[in-house]
Amino acid sequence: MNVTELARKLRINTNELLEILPEFGFDIGKKAIKVDSKIAHKILELGPKIKQKLEDERKAKMEEFRKLSQQEKGVQEITEARIPAVITVREFSKVINQPVNNVIKELMKSGVMASLNEKIDFETAAIVADEFGIKLNQEDSADTATAESGQKIKAALEQEKKTDLVSRAPVIVVMGHVDHGKTKLLDAIRRTNVVEGEAGGITQHIGAYQVVRKERLITCIDTPGHEAFTAMRSRGAKIADIAILVIAANDSIKPQTEEAIKIIKQAGLPMIVAINKIDLPDANIEKVKQDLASMNLTPEDWGGQTICVPISAKENMGIDDLLETILLVSDLEKDKIVANPNKDAIGTIIEAHINKGEGPVATVLVQNGTLKVGDNLCINNVFYGKARALKDYTNQDVEKAEPSTPVKIIGLKYAPKVGDILEVSCEVGRKQKKVKTFDLQKEETTVNQAVFKDDDQEDDQVTRVNLIIKADVLGSLEAIIESLEKIDSEEVKVKIISKGLGNITDTDVNLAESSGALLIGFNVKTSPLAEDVAREKNINIKYYDIIYKLIEDIKEKMSDLLTPEIVRTDLGKAKVLAIFKTENKAMIIGGKVLSGKIENNTKAQVIRDKEKIATGEIVQLQSGKQDVNEVAEGQEFGLKYQGDPVIQEGDRLEVYKEEKLVKKIN
Ligand code: GDP
Repeated sequence: MNVTELARKLRINTNELLEILPEFGFDIGKKAIKVDSKIAHKILELGPKIKQKLEDERKAKMEEFRKLSQQEKGVQEITEARIPAVITVREFSKVINQPVNNVIKELMKSGVMASLNEKIDFETAAIVADEFGIKLNQEDSADTATAESGQKIKAALEQEKKTDLVSRAPVIVVMGHVDHGKTKLLDAIRRTNVVEGEAGGITQHIGAYQVVRKERLITCIDTPGHEAFTAMRSRGAKIADIAILVIAANDSIKPQTEEAIKIIKQAGLPMIVAINKIDLPDANIEKVKQDLASMNLTPEDWGGQTICVPISAKENMGIDDLLETILLVSDLEKDKIVANPNKDAIGTIIEAHINKGEGPVATVLVQNGTLKVGDNLCINNVFYGKARALKDYTNQDVEKAEPSTPVKIIGLKYAPKVGDILEVSCEVGRKQKKVKTFDLQKEETTVNQAVFKDDDQEDDQVTRVNLIIKADVLGSLEAIIESLEKIDSEEVKVKIISKGLGNITDTDVNLAESSGALLIGFNVKTSPLAEDVAREKNINIKYYDIIYKLIEDIKEKMSDLLTPEIVRTDLGKAKVLAIFKTENKAMIIGGKVLSGKIENNTKAQVIRDKEKIATGEIVQLQSGKQDVNEVAEGQEFGLKYQGDPVIQEGDRLEVYKEEKLVKKIN
């Protein structure tokens, strides 16, 4: 086997491999090109150890270097730091107490060209911090001020006496890569529990439902996708007790799976991996487990702690096991899955919209206390209305909703936002504070796509480039949007008509057509139907896999829309000595260049008594009866002037060139 291939398999640098092999007893020489396949096999077996050793050595070297350089500079040593999801390079270097230049150098090594004021994401920062021997933690959005309301529920529960707390149904969320079967799984779980009389399906779908298993309730949040979950979390809300990570057995771990894992870890949620689509012939459960193990999520049956349940949401296989596992995990978490039902309710809005017949309607997940019909409801101390009626997920009227119960509330005056914390309070009820109605469409809530209304009429000086952006993961989408927002131009601005995760659909194409937007895919594909529609409507879809490239192209598009700057270059002055011919819109005159020069196909300003009286163009220039392009100072000429025929003998001409200077956005 080639050494390079061996190194590639081990995912290490060839030279590093050759350097370290003797330490593991393989003396193949530092310049070896091939290795015997038996030895290659042995080396591959030792792969993890070799990699570990290299990593340890690298870290030790870095540590030594860092200590030395810090001693030299007398810099205070930092071993751990905390940053938000995105941070400017300047702020980041301050936080980790490193000179900006070193940070920029490290970024370059990782292929990131970022200047001082540019923002980098947490992952990039973490790689750089690691090089400086600093462990980086991401600030939970719940750490920030916006999250205050989300903390209310936590605080409410913390205030409860232990003796008042009773167990409640576990609340689960389903996450995973697009098309791995989240929706199908939620359907399958719901089907396990279709109560008689409900066979036609649940008439009024709300954003969550409950199933009974072994006489115990499980609440499932039915807004699959981590966008919804992240939206709630970013507003400080914590709604779930257990996360189900769906991974398709024929596809294994994909970008959104990784992102979901990150979100689940950050939220500190226990996780159950549902390995789905095991009915497919190309299902490979072992591969999924292997990939999980390589992400430090070693499955239980491999001696790790990650619970995996193979299922087929389509064929209804393993769903019972999954529900059993959910109960098992909730037993393990039972100290946390508690609430006091004998209190005024507090909970999180998980769905909200304006219903034609019923006005603003919202679904709340009650998290502590009991919500009752007639309760006064507030959000952020603003009175939102009285609960005229409560409906459960089957659309049945209920009188009350205990902790972990999702209910639809009828009687709200205004539509709340997803992630809002709803509280029962009589006090504020009387004050009846006014609140602005929210335009739900403007909110980035549970919907995969947020369509923004055109609210920029006031700014009609500005030209807009409309965009529709679809990306593979939330991180990229946020990074793209942030970079787009940073593009600085007074004249042209970008406007994101719609953004979302996942492949480009026919809806995106139709929206691109109706809004005249550019349709952009970042690391995503286009559904076959959408491709057909795009072809039919002549909509061009642009694909990217590098953010920088995408931004450059948009800047170019924006530059094209800038009005070019006209630059005037004065060429020379001349005196009119004779008028040879006067036409309707032109004149032929003779003259002499007083200073500079005059050129053909330029502009001339006619000056009389120091006043500008007209402007025209020189369309033909002659010197001694010869057509010429230019006549120099001191020479006589004849020219054809196009413009109002107002020139008289003795007038002066000021000749100049005008050039369009195409501006560019940097
Ligand atoms: P989501 O994007 O994660 O919500 O995925 P969906 O639930 O919409 O499923 C995506 C596709 O995979 C659909 O065509 C489903 O019918 C299919 N699918 C989901 N679960 C299974 C399964 O267990 N087996 C098979 N063969 N297909 C499945």
